[in-house]
Amino acid sequence: MTMKLLLHACCGPCSLEPVRLLQEAGHDIAICFANSNIAPRTEYDRRLDVLRAWAADEGIPVVDLPYDNAAWAASAGAVERGGGPREDRCRACYALRLEEAAAYAAAHDYEALSTTLAVSPYQLSNVCREELEAAAERHGLACVWEDFRPYYPTATLRSRELGMYRQNYCGCAYSMDEARAERAARKAEKAAAAAVREAELEAARAERAARQAAYDEKQRRKREIRNSFRH
Ligand code: SF4
Repeated sequence: MTMKLLLHACCGPCSLEPVRLLQEAGHDIAICFANSNIAPRTEYDRRLDVLRAWAADEGIPVVDLPYDNAAWAASAGAVERGGGPREDRCRACYALRLEEAAAYAAAHDYEALSTTLAVSPYQLSNVCREELEAAAERHGLACVWEDFRPYYPTATLRSRELGMYRQNYCGCAYSMDEARAERAARKAEKAAAAAVREAELEAARAERAARQAAYDEKQRRKREIRNSFRH
């Protein structure tokens, strides 16, 4: 069944494949940028600008809801400050953004709600689905959930071809720190692996040199013995 659908979008690159697939399914789509999680504000503006530019080329309307990072800090941010696990923080984050999108959709005669968060393997897919379903139900909307993650590599390729800005963290300030720490850990892991490989090569080189030295010494002794017989 085709519907008038509001697609909550987290950024331009993650919108490419969900928009294509939902349009192929016949839905009449508008995009909703409801992402008060994103920090700092300059990053929010950058992601929105990238999304807007691409959607304008595609002829897809974009609604951007008010940016309220303080509201985000009072919900998902409070979970983090309270020492809760990442899943709880992300659940509160999804709930806030999808609730805003669902309320807008209901107030503007949309029939269905979906989200581009379903394309990223870095999101907590099951948690996101639960929050999308709950928000849609609260506002009498059909929930259009599809696990778009198999299309993530295509989305990555297409966004690179289009020269789109691709952020390297999810959105909130905590995720920026986490992503930085993960990159540093990966770099340290690679450096440690390279050091082990170099040590192994060095050991092999030393072993070859020792074998060659032993062989040379043996040959030298043979020559010495042969020479002693000649005198
Ligand atoms: S990591 Fe992403 S989904 Fe989780 S709280 Fe931060 S911005 Fe929200």
